[in-house]
Amino acid sequence: MSERSLYPGDHPLSDDPDGSEVSHLANHIGGVFRPADCGHWIDDFSPATGQLIARIPCSDDDDVDAAVSAASAAGHEWATTSVEQRADWLERIADALETRFDEIAALESLDTGKPVSLARAIDATRSVTNFRFFADLVRQRAAEPERYEMADASNLVIDKPVGVCALVTPWNLPLYLLSWKVAPALAMGNTVVCKPSELTPLTADLLARTIHSVGLPVGVFNLVHGNGQHAGAPLVEHPGVSAVSFTGGTVTGAVVAAAAAPSFKKISLELGGKNSSIVFADCDLEATIPGVVRAGFMNQGQVCLSGSRILVEESLYEEFRDRLVAAVEAMVIGDPTDESTELGALISAAHLAKVSGYIDLARQEGGTILTGGEVPAHAATADSAFAAGYWLRPAVIEGLSTDSRCSTEEIFGPVVTLHPFASEEEAVTIANNTEHGLAGSVWTSDLERGARVAAALETGMVWVNCWLHRDLRVPFGGVKSSGVGREGGMRSLAFFSEPLNLCIKHD
Ligand code: NDP
Repeated sequence: MSERSLYPGDHPLSDDPDGSEVSHLANHIGGVFRPADCGHWIDDFSPATGQLIARIPCSDDDDVDAAVSAASAAGHEWATTSVEQRADWLERIADALETRFDEIAALESLDTGKPVSLARAIDATRSVTNFRFFADLVRQRAAEPERYEMADASNLVIDKPVGVCALVTPWNLPLYLLSWKVAPALAMGNTVVCKPSELTPLTADLLARTIHSVGLPVGVFNLVHGNGQHAGAPLVEHPGVSAVSFTGGTVTGAVVAAAAAPSFKKISLELGGKNSSIVFADCDLEATIPGVVRAGFMNQGQVCLSGSRILVEESLYEEFRDRLVAAVEAMVIGDPTDESTELGALISAAHLAKVSGYIDLARQEGGTILTGGEVPAHAATADSAFAAGYWLRPAVIEGLSTDSRCSTEEIFGPVVTLHPFASEEEAVTIANNTEHGLAGSVWTSDLERGARVAAALETGMVWVNCWLHRDLRVPFGGVKSSGVGREGGMRSLAFFSEPLNLCIKHD
C-alpha cells in the first residue's frame, strides 16, 4: 500500500523502509538517527482526519539500552562543562527552535488535532520559552550559590548532576511538556533519554533534529520512540537511569513509581487532575463566563489542569448555566488548520470512546446533558474529510450527584459537570471530594474569600479570577493522586541535581 505523506519533515529516514510514502521517524541515539533494532513500526494518525501521518520506531529494551549507554558515555564531559556553557547551549536550541516556530505549531496541530492558533499561542511559544527561561535561571542559581557561615567553618551547597535522566511525557502538550523537562535537566549537567507519547511523536522528532543541527555534544540528548510497555517501562527500570521525570496519567504514574523504587531512582510525578472552577455570585460574570469556558474546554478539555467541575453559588446557578451553555454552543469546532477554529479533535479513537463512555455514564448516573456529546456536523457525514477523525461536540452536564463517577473522576475531554452550592464550606467540600489534588480556580470579587477558599482546597495550585496564568518560577504540581514533587523554576533545577554540602573548617 502506498500512502501520501502528510508529514512535512525532512527526516533522514523519510525514504520509506517499507516502500510506502509515509515518513518514518527515527530514534536519536548517540547523535545518530536510527530505526528500532527490531525493525518494527507504530502508526501515527491525524486525530482530525484519522489518516496515517507517519510511522515511528517501535523501540524496545535494546534501543533503550543503547540510548542509556550513549547518555551515560556523554555524562562526564557534559557534567564538567560550565554553567555558562550549558546556558549558551540552551539558548542556541531556543534560537533554532524559534526559527521553526510555525513548523512546531503546524506539526503539533497535525499530531494532536488541536487548533493551529492554540498550538502557536501555547505549544510553540512555551517550547521556545522553556529553553530561554532555564538558561536564565541556571545562570542566576550559579550566581547566587547557597552558602552558610558558622563561627569556625563555611558551608557551601554545590549542585551536582544526577546522571542519566529518563523523561517520559504525554500527548496533550507534547513539546511544551518535553521541553519543560529537557531544558532544566540539561542545564544542571545531566544527560537525557526522552520517551514521548507514541500518539504524538512529531515535535519530539523536530526537537531531536533541531538539537542535532545546533551540534549539541553527541549523547547528551537521546530520543527513543515507542509505546509505554516496550520502551517506557524498560527505560524507567533501567539500572543506568538515575532520575525519572514522568508526566502522564495517575494509573501509569503508580506503575512508573513502583518500577523506579527498587533502585531508589529520584522521581517526579505530574499526574491527573479533577479540578473545580468555583463561581461565587459576586463574580464579574462578563469575565467569569469566558474564563470558565476556557478552563473547561481549552485543548478540548485535555489539560491536566482543566476546570472540569464547575461549582456555582445557588443564587447565580440558573443564569450562569444558561450563559455557559450559550457560550459553549458558540465555540467554533472544526478544521484545526482554520485560524478561526477554537476546538479541534480528541487525540485518538480509544480516547474518544473513553470520553463518550463517560457521557453515557452521566446519563445512567442521573445527569442531564444540556448540550453536546455527539459528533459535530462538520464530521458527521460520510463524505466529510473529517468523518474518520475523533470528534465530539463539547458537553455540559447537570444534575449529577457530587459523588458520581463523572463528577469525581478525570475524564480528560470536552465535558464539564455543573453543581450548585449553598455556602463556601460546601463548595470546598465538593471540590475536595476526589482522589486528585492538582489545581482549581475561584471566581469572586471578594479577594479575601478567594485566598481563603484557595487555602482550603487540597490542591497544589489555585487561580483566583483567572486560570492557567503561569509564571514559570512558581511551583507546579499536585497533591493526593495528582503527583509527587513539584516542577517549575528552582524546583526543577533542584530535582535535576544532587546537592553536595561542602563544609570547610577555618584555620
Ligand atoms: P499515560 O500515563 O498513558 O502516558 C504518559 C507517558 O507514559 C506516555 O509516553 C506513555 O507511553 C508512557 N507510559 C505508559 N506506560 C508506561 C510504563 N509502564 N512505563 C513508562 N512509561 C509508560 O498518559 P497520557 O499520555 O494518556 O496523558 C494523559 C494523562 O496525563 C492525563 O491523566 C493527564 O492528566 C496527565 N497529565 C498530567 C499533567 C501534569 O502536569 N500533572 C500534564 C499533562 C498531562 P505511550 O502512551 O506511548 O504508551
